[in-house]
Amino acid sequence: MKIAWFCIPAHGHTNPTLGLVREMTAAGHEIRYFSFADFREKIEAAGAKFIPCDGVDIGMDDPDSGEKVGKDVSFATTLMVRATLALDGLISEEIQRFQPDLIVSDSVAFWGKLTAWKFGIPYVCSTTTFAFNRDSARYMKRGAGETLRMLFSMPKINRQIRLLREKGYPVKGLLDIVQNDNSTNTIVYTSPLFQPCAETFSDRYHFIGPSIRPVTQPMQKTAGQTVFISMGTVLKNAELFRNCIEAVRGTGWQVIVSAGCSELPQDGLPDNVQVYESVDQMAVLSIADAFISHCGMNSVSESLWFGVPLVLFPQTPEQGAVAMRTAELGAGIRPASQSPDEIRQAVQNVLMQPAYQQAAQRISESFRNCGGIAEAKAFLEACAEKR
Ligand code: UDP
Repeated sequence: MKIAWFCIPAHGHTNPTLGLVREMTAAGHEIRYFSFADFREKIEAAGAKFIPCDGVDIGMDDPDSGEKVGKDVSFATTLMVRATLALDGLISEEIQRFQPDLIVSDSVAFWGKLTAWKFGIPYVCSTTTFAFNRDSARYMKRGAGETLRMLFSMPKINRQIRLLREKGYPVKGLLDIVQNDNSTNTIVYTSPLFQPCAETFSDRYHFIGPSIRPVTQPMQKTAGQTVFISMGTVLKNAELFRNCIEAVRGTGWQVIVSAGCSELPQDGLPDNVQVYESVDQMAVLSIADAFISHCGMNSVSESLWFGVPLVLFPQTPEQGAVAMRTAELGAGIRPASQSPDEIRQAVQNVLMQPAYQQAAQRISESFRNCGGIAEAKAFLEACAEKR
């Protein structure tokens, strides 16, 4: 069968799809993956044909946009609707040529879902965060200010929605675009245990478990306890890193830091700390005993997969939901402040009190008991057949 796949330019949204893409293409299905130049290599390595969406200004080139998208719903929504309009010509032409049997689209790559509607093609939503509905949304703890901003930006959004309609997208309103309901076929890369309010989602939701990459560059354990520190691939927060590094100074733990977008000085680092721009996160987590994390869904899922408890520093509402669920299930601590003392105490607690590791282990088992890629593959094949 032929699948058109859509994603936003973010590693956290692309990575979880690649195992499934690899499995589908290995089974002979043809996938055209609409994405952006930075992601070409990994998409092609998974056996899909890469369709570049670059050159279209979707406002993500600005290095600060990635962070803002996570923090500001109205900014994100406006950006995504604008992108759908900008990508319309390119996508419509490709789709008419390719004639896919199925469209799979990331939950926030609105252009995928809207293309499916425009051309009447079966659609599956790929959700790399928690699935959100009215019940689970309370984990996002959206501030009143944010909701107000969203309302105030409505006139502009309504104008864009009119433009979408003129281009043939059958959209009634904003909610149509941002929300997925219980009738939407959906893959979620987590387990029913870790998903908040899992029982409120219909059987169209397949909780297939996180997608874990194999270890490629094994790491050596050099101390009794190994602590990993990362704030993901988007966030810049040198101050939080500095506090974390102060927190672990002189502890004797082996500390591995992935600096990502933050610029960290190599001078003056404690002897027990190694800083990298990027690491093989599976390799590090496979030897880690604790993880200080920004609570990206992927990072936390990968940590829990290896039974590693966390110290939680979420920076966006979505990461806040992941932190809240992790803490609620007992697999992590969210310190009250970012002071080095408080961070050190939290790390000590998750290392010394076995309950944190046991809770992480329980979630790990729930992940390993999910249907994984095999279930997702069968689901996609069934969705295309129903056409
Ligand atoms: N990652 C990695 N090496 C690093 C830092 C991050 O491989 O040094 C990967 C990590 O394993 C995860 C993804 O990048 O799969 C980050 O996704 P997440 O949702 O945690 O955070 P985001 O970067 O989207 O904020």
